[in-house]
Parts: sequence; C-alpha cells; structure tokens
Amino acid sequence: IEELAELDELTGSFNRRCIMRVLDDEVARAHRTKAPCSVALIDLDWFKRINDAYGHPTGDEVLRTFAITVFANLRAIDKFGRYGGEEFLLVLPDTPDDSAARILDRLRAIIADLDWSAFSPGMRVTISAGIATLKPNETPDAILARADSALYAAKAQGRNRIASA
Ligand code: C2E
Ligand code: C2E
Repeated sequence: IEELAELDELTGSFNRRCIMRVLDDEVARAHRTKAPCSVALIDLDWFKRINDAYGHPTGDEVLRTFAITVFANLRAIDKFGRYGGEEFLLVLPDTPDDSAARILDRLRAIIADLDWSAFSPGMRVTISAGIATLKPNETPDAILARADSALYAAKAQGRNRIASA
C-alpha cells in the first residue's frame, strides 16, 4: 500500500505528491540544522520528439532507463521523484551548490554517453537540469521556482547542459 501511495508506477521513483513532501521535509530540516540543501529539476530533452518518432512504449522505456541510471549513480540519501511527464525533481540533502553542480553534470554526461541504440539505431537522449541551493528562510515553492528558471535557462542555452540559479 505504501508503494502504491508513494511510487510512480512507470519509473519506480517517488511520485509527485511524495517528492513534494520530501522537499517540504528536507527544506524544514535544512533550515533547522543550517545544513546546505540543493534541488534540481531535470528534464529529458526533446522527449516529445522521442515519443513521436519511436512511439510511446519506447518513450516509456527511455524514462525507465533514465530513472534506473539515476538510482545507480546517486547516493541512497538523495531523493528522486517524477514531477511531471518527463520532468523529475532531485532533492540533495547536505549538498552545497558546487557539489550539486558536479553531481548534475556527472549525471548529464552519463546519460549523454549511454548507448541508447538498443531502443533504436542512432537514438540519442540528453537531459537538461536547473539547480538551486536553499537560501535562509526560503520556502519550498521559492526554491522550486528558482530551479525552474535555471532549467529554462539551460534549455534556452541549447540543452544537454545544467544551469544554477
Ligand atoms: P566527487 O565525486 O568530486 O564529489 C565531491 C563532493 O560532491 C562529495 O564529497 C560530496 O559532498 C558531493 N557528491 C558527489 N556525488 C554525490 C552524490 O551522488 N550524492 C551526494 N549527496 N553528494 C555527492 P565527499 O563525500 O567528501 O566525496 C569526496 C570524493 O570521494 C568524491 O569526489 C569521489 O571522488 C569520492 N567518492 C565518495 N563517495 C563515492 C561513491 O559512492 N562512489 C564513488 N565512485 N566515489 C565516491
Ligand atoms: P551509494 O552511496 O548509494 O552511491 C551509489 C553510486 O552513486 C556510487 O556507486 C557512485 O556511482 C555514485 N556516487 C555517490 N557518491 C558519489 C561521489 O561522491 N562521487 C562520485 N563520482 N560518484 C558518487 P559506486 O561508486 O559503485 O559505490 C557503491 C557504494 O559503495 C556507494 O553507494 C557507497 O555505499 C560505497 N562507496 C563507494 N565509494 C565510497 C567512498 O568513497 N566513501 C564512502 N563512504 N562510501 C563509498
């Protein structure tokens, strides 16, 4: 019952409701302990084109492979959930801005270097990410909005890149 309530069926990551609760909890904890906390909004580039070109079942497999890759390359304390269709939210407790940038760029490179040709010859998948690190007294909504603006900037700068708020 807990799994059904908390997990996204397709990717096995937290569902939106759960990752938002995690964000609330981690923001509250970081304010209390004065520990750093960073978040990242991650979006699969041109995902609609992948769905259109290869079909929705392949699009689903791409999302699943992306999620498995994230799980394999982050620490267990890092929290990862599906925020919307092809958009994911990563909450990095105890992580300052420079580490968050390093983590997200590592992830970006791993995804870009994966061999996606098993899905379809010549297929390429990349991600863009917007990172924000918690400011004093900042609300969960406010840090999310900054991460979203940074994601928008990463997209505008050409995708397959990360940007920090
Ligand atoms: P690094 O990979 O350059 O990471 C630098 C710092 O970024 C880490 O310092 C940590 O604060 C943060 N960081 C990096 N990746 C992650 C992540 O996936 N999740 C979280 N929450 N934080 C992350 P730290 O802990 O002092 O580690 C220093 C160095 O030790 C790392 O430099 C890396 O070279 C190595 N290291 C530590 N843990 C692991 C691990 O589980 N696997 C591998 N391959 N290397 C590790
Ligand atoms: P974990 O902490 O759950 O990390 C899972 C994977 O996330 C790591 O697999 C690595 O691919 C990535 N990762 C996590 N933190 C870092 C980091 O700081 N830098 C880099 N470059 N990658 C990171 P990996 O390397 O196969 O490690 C498997 C497990 O072994 C880790 O699970 C952790 O429990 C342990 N481990 C590996 N290296 C270190 C280390 O330097 N310090 C500590 N305390 N544990 C380590």
